[in-house]
Amino acid sequence: MAAERAERGGRGVLGLVRPEILRLPGYVPIEPPDVLAEQLGIPRERIAKLDANENPFGASPRAIEALARFRDYHIYPDPDERKLRQALARHLDLPVECIVASAGSDELIQILASMFLAPGDRAIDLVPTFGMYAFEADVAGGQTLPVRRRPDFSVDVAAVAEQIDARTKLIFATSPNNPTANLMSRTELDGLLAFGLPVVVDEAYIEFAGEQSAASLVLDHPNLIVLRTFSKWAGLAGLRVGYAAMPVELAEIVFRIRQPYSVNVAAEVAALASLEDVAVLNERAAAIVAERERLWSKLAALPFLRPHPSHTNFILCDVLRGNARSIRDRLREFGVFIRYFDTPLLKDCLRISVGLPRHTDQLVAALEQIGSSLDGAA
Ligand SMILES: *Cc1c(COP(=O)(O)O)cnc(C)c1O
Repeated sequence: MAAERAERGGRGVLGLVRPEILRLPGYVPIEPPDVLAEQLGIPRERIAKLDANENPFGASPRAIEALARFRDYHIYPDPDERKLRQALARHLDLPVECIVASAGSDELIQILASMFLAPGDRAIDLVPTFGMYAFEADVAGGQTLPVRRRPDFSVDVAAVAEQIDARTKLIFATSPNNPTANLMSRTELDGLLAFGLPVVVDEAYIEFAGEQSAASLVLDHPNLIVLRTFSKWAGLAGLRVGYAAMPVELAEIVFRIRQPYSVNVAAEVAALASLEDVAVLNERAAAIVAERERLWSKLAALPFLRPHPSHTNFILCDVLRGNARSIRDRLREFGVFIRYFDTPLLKDCLRISVGLPRHTDQLVAALEQIGSSLDGAA
């Protein structure tokens, strides 16, 4: 016993950290705008922050008013989230017992990963996709099994079938997908559901898709979990509030294993007020969709970019000349922040969030200048 303690002591406390945790690379998050402005030495208003799919209109007027009036910060939140879950049940037209709210949908991804994945278990990840599924599966001690999407980014259900074995416990599917911006068809979803494994459909961008949510299907499918969020549609990314619709027996387990006060009181107040401001939020979503179409045409007109179709509030572009990373870097000099990808699955791609019309104009003017120097170099 003493020898064992001494041996551990030799390696220090790091020797006690789970070895698979020590091997994890960590998630690379994006920087807030004041940090970016300071790095560039320009005022924050001159930054076009198009790198995190945030809502350029901000929170709804009622959410901002409700927060300004709120006084009960010293009281713990309702552990059963009664008011918020009832409002969400009305919003989705589902029984309240099917609804769980959380500190962002990211928290639900974490809870679901730890609920289904024991060490050595695997979750199917339909790549390229959002990085949080692999991140949370890894932290839970499980693993993701990447299954590549088709060239048009649709889900290859037959390829999923080939990968499923006794250790496969979960499927993460995103619709519309991030960063590829395409929707999953009902046929693809039905194909995934037919495996009988829990299917997590992440609908973070469904309000921009002009399509019906899969949420109502949880009543008929015991293995369907639909994630939604206030971050994109409702402009509450900074308050961290998401939710899920799932079969009652799964919701009960989530409540048993999660932190009791996960949705903070400010997030709850803002989310409730947002659900009373749906008309304004939907109008803003429609304006973002209209701006997306304008941005898409402008990107398509640039000879060095090829935008993919989008059902979200961002556009994925292939870079045909130059490289994605250097375009991302050069845009920073114009105060424009976007994301780039350069991986085997997404070679030289840019992901550009849809902002306000002035952000589109600032971005396009910068891209035109960058493009003319690419021509010069060619
Ligand atoms: C932005 C995003 C989320 C994160 O939502 P939060 O509610 O802010 O945690 C989840 N899934 C996808 C696909 C996203 O792009």
